[in-house]
Amino acid sequence: MQNIPTLEEFTAQAQAFLDANAKKRAPKKAFVWGEGDDAFTAAEDRSREKELEGVHAAMKWRQTKFDAGFGWINGPTEFGGANLPASHDRAFSALEAEYDLPSQFCFNIGLGMVAPTILAHASDHAKNLYLKKLWRGEIIGAQLFSEPGAGSDLASLQTKAIRDGDEWVITGQKVWTSGAHYSDVGEIICRTDVDLPKHKGLTGFIIDMNDPAVEIRPLKQMSGAAGFNEVFINELRVKDDHRLGDVNNGWNVALTTLMNERSAIGANNHSDSDMFEKLIAMVRHFGLDKDPLIRNELASIVMHYRVAGLNSARALARLRSGQMPGPEMSTAKMALTMNQARVVNFLTHVLGPKLQADTGEWGTYAWSTMVLNAPGLRIAGGTDEVMRNIVGERVLGLPKEPGIDSNSPFRDLKVGTQK
Ligand SMILES: Cc1cc2nc3c(=O)[nH]c(=O)nc-3n(C[C@H](O)[C@H](O)[C@H](O)COP(=O)(O)OP(=O)(O)OC[C@H]3O[C@@H](n4cnc5c(N)ncnc54)[C@H](O)[C@@H]3O)c2cc1C
Repeated sequence: MQNIPTLEEFTAQAQAFLDANAKKRAPKKAFVWGEGDDAFTAAEDRSREKELEGVHAAMKWRQTKFDAGFGWINGPTEFGGANLPASHDRAFSALEAEYDLPSQFCFNIGLGMVAPTILAHASDHAKNLYLKKLWRGEIIGAQLFSEPGAGSDLASLQTKAIRDGDEWVITGQKVWTSGAHYSDVGEIICRTDVDLPKHKGLTGFIIDMNDPAVEIRPLKQMSGAAGFNEVFINELRVKDDHRLGDVNNGWNVALTTLMNERSAIGANNHSDSDMFEKLIAMVRHFGLDKDPLIRNELASIVMHYRVAGLNSARALARLRSGQMPGPEMSTAKMALTMNQARVVNFLTHVLGPKLQADTGEWGTYAWSTMVLNAPGLRIAGGTDEVMRNIVGERVLGLPKEPGIDSNSPFRDLKVGTQK
């Protein structure tokens, strides 16, 4: 029988480990307008070299904590987890946040979406091969879903996988693949039967991103960074034991990943007291703190963030108690993008042209990173419009959207480049 430490014992062990292996964050200084670095949001690495340095530091930290038993706290022991309750996992995350550690951004997709899908749908062989390595940060995972002709309507995807004995041969193009350039494995959804309706002839696989049959080309965003890529796959051979779920059941595999994706994005919509502090200081600096419209707008931003944070805390509590993420995570994602849009509008009111051209004035153009990244989040993980459809249908019980043909064989549908 496993000896489960009490929460107090576990917290003491975690504290000792963190003290021995990481530096505690310096106590937060009161923010003073005009002092220090004016980068208000996490700056993106625009050079590949710096980005990879960050990825390597993140991998190293994951290995250190995994080897000490804190890498996959609530995962099953048979695949490398510590099999401890979710309360222990939460306690470790809360403690870890007090230390100055490398950003774990590069693991968002691999651990937030790909690993849970492998756990739910992969063969035991693939689980043994990948889960520990993913959680130990030895490898990173990417999500290969979107294609030039299939984004919101993912079930229209055309990358094909053809069976050849014990293997599958995959050919096609994926796009917007975040982090493909530093990923080792990818979760891919392919068309395996064109005679079935579009949601039914799909199958999921785990692929090797370093195989020569996989070509990765970066896509540059308007912010100057290149976080995602086009991925061309030319007759990539994949063993059948790398299949996710049953043949032609890839839609359910994709749904597992998408629900986890929305949960991961939506979980970030908590109140950001640092951002509020900076917005308030900015308003004071420009002498707008007595302007009733500006005050009203600012108060509305703070309230909307607070409410969204409380809502997602409730949804996350359900999730952590073992229930599946549901449509409430779609509302959390919608709330996040709507709140970001509120901040962007507010910034344009206060800063006007200073937001568009760098005048050198402290604390003005620095907000542009946030402004340029906000539209991407309205698209990633399901667009605002698609989220509204989900909420309409699954939360409010409105009728299903017309026009989706889920009965005709895929080969008879007029989709993208399909002839
Ligand atoms: C930052 C970022 C990271 C991403 N990372 C990944 C990744 O790692 N892996 C991956 O596979 N993909 C990734 N994507 C792609 C993302 O999933 C797609 O961009 C998204 O699903 C939208 O698809 P699309 O771009 O083809 O737009 P479309 O689906 O063509 O949509 C175009 C417009 O039509 C609207 N629309 C479409 N259908 C409907 C409808 N039924 N009702 C109302 N309006 C509709 C949309 O809201 C949108 O405004 C990423 C995207 C971004 C922005």
